[in-house]
Amino acid sequence: MPRSKDAPTRHESARSLCGRDRATIIPVYFDVVIVGGGPSGLAAALTLGRARRAVLLCDAGERRNQTAEHIYNFVTRDHTPPDEFRRVAREQLARYPNVLVRDVRVEALDGERDAFRVRVEQEDIIAKRVLLCTGMLDEPLLLEGAREAWGRSIFQCPYCHGWEAQGRAWGYVAPAHDAPHAAMAPLFVQQLFAWTEHVTVFSQHGNPLSEELASQLESLGARVERSPIERLVVDPERRTQIRAIALANGATTPCDALFAHPPQRQTPLVASLGLALDADGYVTADPMRRETSRPGIFASGDLSTRMQGAIFAAASGAQAGAMINLDLAQQRAMQRASSRARAETSG
Ligand SMILES: Cc1cc2nc3c(=O)[nH]c(=O)nc-3n(C[C@H](O)[C@H](O)[C@H](O)COP(=O)(O)OP(=O)(O)OC[C@H]3O[C@@H](n4cnc5c(N)ncnc54)[C@H](O)[C@@H]3O)c2cc1C
Repeated sequence: MPRSKDAPTRHESARSLCGRDRATIIPVYFDVVIVGGGPSGLAAALTLGRARRAVLLCDAGERRNQTAEHIYNFVTRDHTPPDEFRRVAREQLARYPNVLVRDVRVEALDGERDAFRVRVEQEDIIAKRVLLCTGMLDEPLLLEGAREAWGRSIFQCPYCHGWEAQGRAWGYVAPAHDAPHAAMAPLFVQQLFAWTEHVTVFSQHGNPLSEELASQLESLGARVERSPIERLVVDPERRTQIRAIALANGATTPCDALFAHPPQRQTPLVASLGLALDADGYVTADPMRRETSRPGIFASGDLSTRMQGAIFAAASGAQAGAMINLDLAQQRAMQRASSRARAETSG
């Protein structure tokens, strides 16, 4: 839907959403709607806010690192609880009256560049550009107790959680042989020795390790268990802490920190948009401009890369914000040039 002549200016429309009954102000107009208020969306909102764009950031609340107690490996924010990270970011965004943050889920998105229609709580928001920062959804490991231990003693990333568990018994659940990242297993295991000498590789029922991969991992110094995982053995006092892995053959192997990369999938909203995805299922975005295969829709953060971490997501969000601002500025320059040319030919 094109913006009508009578449409409120971008700053009026942004403010009206705060102050009035929402039912009376359909539709509202923004330069950019950001979907997702994790590190990526928050960083993008700051960049765009400081560029004086009218921005609406919508966040549904559930975050990937829900169970994690701290964010690690983010310079100046190491050991910050994730809720505190978001609180400070929002507090800083509050300095910019042109940025609105709402705790709402974006239910649907359609339209095209300059006239996207973003559906939230039965309300249509119109936006010139949309930035997707929705993160990824992690499938839980199919083991009893894995949900509770996720982010506490089962991890994806040693840079995030390795320091706290250094020197202890570590395990790695080898990916399914047909998983997109299966070829990365030896590289991943190799780096774990930076934190501990005690690395055991496990497999799951129905996904035996090939003998070739097992001997490759053994040559790196890992112990390889050929018998599949039967169950997690958790600390009776603290059920989020695993202590060992019980195997199908009846043996038990000590394990204080288990690393795994269970499958991830896109959120239903992103999956509904028909965007080009890479072979691993991440949204394809131009590495510099961060624009997806659909003109006017940009993407940053975890949904577009396997290189996942809060600081990476924030960096790509800031980059996307700058690129969207540039895109809007270029469009304005072109519009000005063509109106000048029209005025010259008619005059
Ligand atoms: C258990 C765990 C621990 C981790 N620990 C660390 C760590 O210590 N250090 C580190 O650097 N990284 C860590 N990570 C990785 C880090 O959390 C992610 O890389 C980072 O959060 C990605 O940021 P993001 O903004 O792309 O997505 P997210 O942080 O996942 O945020 C996405 C947001 O989008 C919202 N959303 C989704 N769909 C919609 C919708 N339709 N409408 C509105 N909102 C929507 C979600 O509710 C969510 O708030 C951890 C990850 C996990 C799983």
